[in-house]
Amino acid sequence: MKIESCPKCRSPKIIKSGIVNSRQRYTCKQCSYNFTVDKIGKKIDDYYITKALQLYLEGLSYREIERIIGVSHVTVSNWVRHYKIKRLNDGMYHPTYRIITHQELVEQLKNKEFLTGAGMIITELGDKFMLIKWERFRD
Ligand SMILES: [Zn+2]
Repeated sequence: MKIESCPKCRSPKIIKSGIVNSRQRYTCKQCSYNFTVDKIGKKIDDYYITKALQLYLEGLSYREIERIIGVSHVTVSNWVRHYKIKRLNDGMYHPTYRIITHQELVEQLKNKEFLTGAGMIITELGDKFMLIKWERFRD
């Protein structure tokens, strides 16, 4: 599905204006209306499935995944079943996650303390990055 015109005034003068809740946002140059598109084709679907399954493996709950990628927790649990994803040590640790800009990410990583005694994964999310972090040796 390609977006070709503003849903409000039908003007074709629309521009991309960032990502909101993992959805591409557009702004109409004619009437300034902002709108988002849920999913744009199969390629993005695969992208979201992979993201959701990665997060699931990292210990996040279905509802947390729903909040992060904007796909319903029911859909996420269906994907987990469909792809037969099984995570180890279910519930043994719980990671924290933050969605940050590239600049914030660079600042975080300059701090050695931040990197010590913890595991983490950095994953691209829209025009930002998600940092998932967990303490390795927590009781
Ligand atoms: Zn418009």
